[in-house]
Amino acid sequence: MSPKQQLVILGATGSIGLSTLDVVSLNKELFDVFALTAGQNAKKMAALCIEHEPVYAVMASQTAAEQLSSYLTNTQCKTKVRHGEQAMSDVCAYPNVDVVMSAIVGAAGLLPTLSAVEAGKKVLLANKESLVMSGQLFIDKVKQHKATLLPIDSEHNAIFQCLPSSLQNAKGDQNLQQHGVSKILLTGSGGPFLTRDINTLKDVTVSEAVAHPNWSMGQKISVDSATMMNKGLEFIEAKWLFNCDTSDIDVVIHPQSIIHSMVQYHDGSILAQMGNPDMRTPIAHALAYPERINAGVKPLNFSDITDFSFTKPDYARYPNLQLAVDACSAGQGATTTVNAANEITVNAFLNGKIGFTDIYKINAQTLEAATYTNVQSLDEILECDKLARISALQFITKVAH
Ligand code: NAD
Ligand code: MG
Repeated sequence: MSPKQQLVILGATGSIGLSTLDVVSLNKELFDVFALTAGQNAKKMAALCIEHEPVYAVMASQTAAEQLSSYLTNTQCKTKVRHGEQAMSDVCAYPNVDVVMSAIVGAAGLLPTLSAVEAGKKVLLANKESLVMSGQLFIDKVKQHKATLLPIDSEHNAIFQCLPSSLQNAKGDQNLQQHGVSKILLTGSGGPFLTRDINTLKDVTVSEAVAHPNWSMGQKISVDSATMMNKGLEFIEAKWLFNCDTSDIDVVIHPQSIIHSMVQYHDGSILAQMGNPDMRTPIAHALAYPERINAGVKPLNFSDITDFSFTKPDYARYPNLQLAVDACSAGQGATTTVNAANEITVNAFLNGKIGFTDIYKINAQTLEAATYTNVQSLDEILECDKLARISALQFITKVAH
């Protein structure tokens, strides 16, 4: 019997982090929680430390770490509390760590995730933004350090499951065509505004935007799903994970979120991965790969399915999708810029500073105004990200309520 896998969860208090801990709790004989990290929520982290007894808990700020320490005083919990980005990167690189779940939201996940990659770990990637913002550099590091990269995003996990095993085990240099793959069919539900009158999208409220019909997720990805920027980021993510061209990927709207994505082969076969929309399935798949473990997910009952439909995306309704797809063709500077701008605009929307349709307007303005030339090294990527944030904030002040 192999020893237990030592696990680090970046973003443990979030939606993906908690789902990961759920799967771990169902499979205690296979995993030990070595470290948990989170942003600011010390109370939730204290409860997770008491339940899972990690060796380390890392909070983003010193204040949050002090709060966590005080919550843990007078408990039996022996977890060592640390803070800051460097400490998050450090726990990922400990020699005894086997697996790192990358589930911080946004660009804040980049450096800790790269640390796990550089330490050659098995990296379970939920934090799509880190791959979108650093594409080639990220994949080159995976190859250089012989890390294992497994997709957690349900679509990419589905595509991965539908690929032949020789392609699953290649790292960023897969040749899809040589293995008979003709298309990747990236499915998306269309979010909560699939059928809403397009003229009323400017009036969308925060609570309407975060109410996804099929998935329960963090706030940022919920807004991204409503604008379909999420599918745009996933388009870029797929390009890097599966080494394909933009022409190899088609986006298909499938409102029921039962098929999680598909792979079409030259002989006319299309393989789909299906299941109830529950992130514990791709998490369990990646944790156990190539084995299968219990995820605690209710099996799909086909007799419960009343509608099963597919349409093309309407780019007038989802201009952010088009923006991201175009950025994918334009290159790294454009994808880093779009990702950074979108983090700023979604945050401004969630804080009531701009309207729902301003998200696209400011993302597009930021991309148009960007003057990056060469974006390849980590320094260039971080600089491009920073400049895009400053620029998006300036555009926001012009429309802010
Ligand atoms: P969430 O908002 O629920 O959780 C985010 C986690 O990141 C929290 O633990 C938070 O404390 C931590 N965090 C936030 N800012 C931080 C910072 N500056 N430094 C360190 N930690 C920070 O988000 P989520 O829905 O769990 O999504 C996490 C990632 O997974 C995102 O990249 C998202 O796109 C991706 N993802 C999520 C889902 C889903 O179903 N929720 C599906 C696919 C992909
Ligand atoms: Mg997804």
